[in-house]
Amino acid sequence: MQLLITSVVCFGVILLSRWVSQQRYFPGQSSFIWLHLASLWWMFAASLEMAAQGAECKMFWASMAWPGILMTPTFWAVFLWQYIYSNHQRLSNRLLLVLTLVPTLCWALALTNPWHHLMYVEQTAPFSSEFGSPIKYVHGSVYYLATAYGYLCMAFCSGIVIRAVLNSNGLYRRHYLAFLLLTLVPWATNASHVFLGMSLFGFDPTPFSFAFTLMAFAWLIVGVRLFDLLPVARNLLLEALFDPVLVVDSQLRVVEANPSALRLSGLERDWQGRYLQDWPVVGAKLSEVLNQAQGCEPNQLLSLPSLNRYFELNIRPVERTTRHEVALLGQMLYLRDVSQRHMSELQLAEALAVSEQRLLTISNLHEQLREQALCDPLTGLYNRRYLEEFFTLEIDRVQREQKPLSLALIDLDHFKLLNDKHGHLEGDDVLKALADNLRLNVRSSDAAFRIGGEEFLIVLPGADLEEASKRLNIICKQLAGQPLETRGGLRQVTLSAGIACWPMQGSSLDELLDVADAALYQAKRAGRNRVVAFL
Ligand code: GH3
Ligand code: MG
Ligand code: MG
Repeated sequence: MQLLITSVVCFGVILLSRWVSQQRYFPGQSSFIWLHLASLWWMFAASLEMAAQGAECKMFWASMAWPGILMTPTFWAVFLWQYIYSNHQRLSNRLLLVLTLVPTLCWALALTNPWHHLMYVEQTAPFSSEFGSPIKYVHGSVYYLATAYGYLCMAFCSGIVIRAVLNSNGLYRRHYLAFLLLTLVPWATNASHVFLGMSLFGFDPTPFSFAFTLMAFAWLIVGVRLFDLLPVARNLLLEALFDPVLVVDSQLRVVEANPSALRLSGLERDWQGRYLQDWPVVGAKLSEVLNQAQGCEPNQLLSLPSLNRYFELNIRPVERTTRHEVALLGQMLYLRDVSQRHMSELQLAEALAVSEQRLLTISNLHEQLREQALCDPLTGLYNRRYLEEFFTLEIDRVQREQKPLSLALIDLDHFKLLNDKHGHLEGDDVLKALADNLRLNVRSSDAAFRIGGEEFLIVLPGADLEEASKRLNIICKQLAGQPLETRGGLRQVTLSAGIACWPMQGSSLDELLDVADAALYQAKRAGRNRVVAFL
């Protein structure tokens, strides 16, 4: 009966280890398989011990069980360590040698027990003289040392699993809690055998508890998809993602790429392990970014104008944290497709630039129109319309500065005669030449206007009557002394001017114009070619 149970368990463990070895590689897979083999060996030896009838034969198989007994907790510890810390390295031969050192030593001591009795003391003998009776083992010092070693391994296992439980949350925490419970089962069983003397069919129940634990693992693996649920879920997520994702190792070789990344690069097979710089379409740009000394800022724009595609590049380091250091295993490159948004931004910027250009044209035109509306087309001087506006502004200013302001009304002498004699066109030339003359001879703060046919007005802010008549006399004399150029030759013209001053002679433009007009009339009457100011 017991042999049947053991065989079934052994068979189950064989199937399980075969199945595990065929699974997608998970961290600690090789030590997990070693763990199965060790416990299998232990049970195999234990079942042969049960089946054996002779005392010596039973003792032999009990000794043969030792490598299994000690390798099981050893690899259990290694497996948990690798699994919890995501250590994907396969066990090196040197490490395997170190790990199997103590188990092998104990095995050798167990086999050579009849010579030294360090494992089982001499009192070790069958319970009864009946043939096939189980052996009553009386343990020696090496046995206790070996047990201590096993316990040390199990304490280590419990320690790292407890730490993992405390440091994790959600699905991971439940996952590690299950680990912890399963780790405690063989521990408790063995303790109850060693200290309380509990046994199964007269034997140590620990191998069976390990078998139970492995079965429980099998259930977790097959039923709960412990090892592949999370990776599969992550894979599905990556596959469904519209954005390309690449994972590169520390030498910038691509080790993972989702379908979107493969589509973008036009690759289907033989891409794994290819250097990023040789990766089509995006590789060169990506490796350039990664090779930049100080990394790159988040959301850096990666543009592929030839394909009309734009991506925001996010780089996440893939690290493994140990107690002493943070090892960089590789980097994950996440390319968020922002083509649509970027194109809209470009179009918007273009539209904005066009609008700005139009706005500039419109405001230029507006300025020109204003100039045209305020200027006289023949002479280019300001016209009567602008006079009102300019006068109001200047009065405000001189008022603030407590200064006077003068107006000089100018009229050409006998202009009608000139027109009659030389024609209107020559008359126009004279008007233009006079305008140029005035523009040159007024100060920058002054302004010259053409307010009628051959009537001009000069506004002299800050000038009182005396100052204004002095400056107008200069203009008058200069004109009289210098003929003007026209299409028909040089023409001699003179002007008469009347001056009025704000605020003494009037407060409004009309009042001042009246005064200036009266003064001008005086000038004409007095014989022309002169300036009159009512002092
Ligand atoms: P006075 O010395 O008394 O001012 O004599 P005047 O001949 O200049 O007399 P008035 O000022 O009344 O004459 C104005 C003349 O100016 C009438 C017209 O022939 C001439 N005139 C007015 N506007 C223009 C113009 O745009 N072009 C030309 N060529 N002549 C103009
Ligand atoms: Mg006139
Ligand atoms: Mg005139």
